Amino acid sequence: MSKLRLIIIGAGAIGACLAYELSADPRYQITVLDQAASPATGATGAALGVLIGVLCQRTKGRFWQLRQRTLARYQSLIPELEAAMGQPIPGHQGLLKLVTDPTEREGWEQLQAIRRQQGYELELWDPSELRDRVSSVAADRFALAVWSPCDRQVDPTTLTLALVKAAQQRGVEFCFNTPVQTLQRNGDRGLSVEGRPCDWLILSAGLGSTAIAQQLGLDLPMQPVLGQALRLRWPNNRLPQQVMTAEDIHLVPLTDRELWLGATVEMPPDQTAIAPQPEYLDTLRSRAVQFWPDLQQAEVLQAWQGYRPRPLGRPAPVIEHLTDWPKVIVATAHYRNGLLLAPVTAAIVQELLAAAVPPSTAAMI
Ligand SMILES: Cc1cc2nc3c(=O)[nH]c(=O)nc-3n(C[C@H](O)[C@H](O)[C@H](O)COP(=O)(O)OP(=O)(O)OC[C@H]3O[C@@H](n4cnc5c(N)ncnc54)[C@H](O)[C@@H]3O)c2cc1C
Repeated sequence: MSKLRLIIIGAGAIGACLAYELSADPRYQITVLDQAASPATGATGAALGVLIGVLCQRTKGRFWQLRQRTLARYQSLIPELEAAMGQPIPGHQGLLKLVTDPTEREGWEQLQAIRRQQGYELELWDPSELRDRVSSVAADRFALAVWSPCDRQVDPTTLTLALVKAAQQRGVEFCFNTPVQTLQRNGDRGLSVEGRPCDWLILSAGLGSTAIAQQLGLDLPMQPVLGQALRLRWPNNRLPQQVMTAEDIHLVPLTDRELWLGATVEMPPDQTAIAPQPEYLDTLRSRAVQFWPDLQQAEVLQAWQGYRPRPLGRPAPVIEHLTDWPKVIVATAHYRNGLLLAPVTAAIVQELLAAAVPPSTAAMI
């Protein structure tokens, strides 16, 4: 039986996860094309990998369902990849949300009750309990802390490299330094991508997806939303070891002395990428010092930035079949949650393919 030739464009978290998950199906012969020299050079390489699922405020609808499915898959995916690689993927189990506004308490108590019914625990800590449990946090600045043991953080680059390597072990071909500029329709059967014939194309090129989609006559406008972050050295040996988030600022301990702090969210006025402004990082840090005062003395080791792919005029992410191009699936525009939603994106693409390619059809091709 000949295999279905599947081309994935993009080797960020989304493309890498698609490649790995789809490679479990022996019907597909998968090639991943990326313009960069290595994986995870786009938004993925800039991300902090904070995966907020249970702690998000939605309790039903698409937003919540995507999170529920992705959390479930992460539980098995990380150990699976660690076993395949023979080494751990750095990250943390559990996230701590620090709440400054006392009027939010009731809402968190309601969420705790709903999540319990859904099978997830949330612990609500008063400031005194927060002080006892977490070192070096300005506990009196918070009305409440919410500990979510089922949420997690994962190192985005290591995860993506592991997905690529594990996919390669299953026979996926990755072609780097391969920008996709030309797509051609190939009769009724499929497409040709940079001269490579394929039966199915999956577009997961992050912000680069807009230009590729244009070639297919598809309008997929996205905004590059700038995010800046810092790697810091904590000034003493009391760096908290929990991943914390307070007023949209994430603190991710990396070692007993180093951490990531981020990220800014800087909206451009239109679809043009704006340049990083150092003062936004200064503001981020001075806000964070109010929550973790020791950061005042922390040494900056590195500052970096990336651009989140935010879809315009529709909610993130975009995961769909194209009506005019039935052999093309778009899986992109994950904005602030691409790491979180990579596994569920792969699961939905798997379903779209399975619906379009029943086993008997595959055998005939
Ligand atoms: C500062 C920052 C912090 C973030 N923190 C988090 C977080 O904590 N949790 C979370 O879930 N998300 C976070 N995000 C968002 C997350 O990074 C993105 O949603 C996610 O990385 C998108 O993945 P992707 O694979 O779609 O895109 P990308 O990682 O951008 O990958 C796209 C790939 O496509 C390739 N490509 C583009 N055009 C072409 C072309 N024409 N031909 C060939 N290849 C092409 C690129 O080279 C690139 O490798 C953060 C983002 C930023 C910037």
